[in-house]
Amino acid sequence: MAVDTTASPKGRLVIRNIGLLLSGDLARPILDADTVVAVDGVIRQVGKAKDCDTAQPDTLIDAKGVALAPGLIDSHVHPVFGDWTPRQSQIGWIDSTLNGGVTTMISAGEVHLPGRPKDIVGLKALAITAQRAFHNFRPAGVKVLAGAPVIEKGMTETDFAELAAAGVTLLGEVGLGSVKAGAEAQQMVAWARKHGIQSTIHTGGPSIPGSGLIDKDVVLEADADVIGHINGGHTALPEAHVCELCERSRRAIEIVHNGNEKIAVAAVQAARDGKCLHRVILGTDGPAGSGVQPLGILRVIALLSSLGGIPAEQALCFATGNTARIRKLDCGLIEPGRVADFVFLDCAQHTAGRTLLESVALGDIPGVGMVVIDGAVRCGRSRNTPPATEIPVVVHGQ
Ligand SMILES: [Zn+2]
Repeated sequence: MAVDTTASPKGRLVIRNIGLLLSGDLARPILDADTVVAVDGVIRQVGKAKDCDTAQPDTLIDAKGVALAPGLIDSHVHPVFGDWTPRQSQIGWIDSTLNGGVTTMISAGEVHLPGRPKDIVGLKALAITAQRAFHNFRPAGVKVLAGAPVIEKGMTETDFAELAAAGVTLLGEVGLGSVKAGAEAQQMVAWARKHGIQSTIHTGGPSIPGSGLIDKDVVLEADADVIGHINGGHTALPEAHVCELCERSRRAIEIVHNGNEKIAVAAVQAARDGKCLHRVILGTDGPAGSGVQPLGILRVIALLSSLGGIPAEQALCFATGNTARIRKLDCGLIEPGRVADFVFLDCAQHTAGRTLLESVALGDIPGVGMVVIDGAVRCGRSRNTPPATEIPVVVHGQ
């Protein structure tokens, strides 16, 4: 069951015998390194064992030759409170997703709260409460960045200034509330940006009864920071419009699990051909009508690699370093100074692929052997992925 694990561990973590170091950095996705040292939850050294200070660790993990990657970031979730979602009456969905390698989630709006307030003071109160609640409580240790208000008609710049002053840093999906016109959305997105609040826009047809269509012209005019689920959630815009968004907008291209798979492939190929893969980030858009997807991010990585033709080590960067840079997070990359959020991956047992990366390129999802957040082990062999061929071992500590 979910536990509160907000406290950062103190001490020295050494991970040795890493077989493949996946950095999360699209410019250099594979590092020639076999050792990572972290102190008090922050990465200090990445390199060969002989070049690292590995003496006297409080926790020693033998990676057993498997791959180490940054913890995955889900750029698009709809949490409510704690590890409960009313959307499908499920508890423990975040803990389950930890077992899919996800260490950070970003709210695109707490839209599933029964009786969600839509008046301005009420939506601000909900956003501030959600931001506080998830800041104070990490389900299963997962960092949930929440408190993402759904903007409504009648909001003024003062409202955005108040939200920002109260600690709100995100907008819920623009278009899920009453603001659906391009010019109106553009004004509010600009106010949000001025006050340091990042915005995401819903793209495509309505997700569930009550939401509506946001077409490419509205997306371009609103100019939100993230083109949310560019492949629809589920209903996508025509492929030509999606490709036009990739070409004409400078903003982040978010591809989600709960979207149209054919358009997901088209979008990533448009981004590749336009030399802007650094703008691609991944989400699940769960919980939603499709349920929750503990393995959703791994599944999108495998989809984009196998059918989209993106090398697996690059596809992994979409859900790690790209998202961290675009969302201004301190995780997502394995480099000194970043927080020690990791997922250990190996090829699933009996995949046709000879290596982890080859197995993903063939469309198989990897096995998760361990997940570490802020330098602390949060789970061992995943209860949800196909079993990893080899799993890391905690030699001592924790
Ligand atoms: Zn949406």
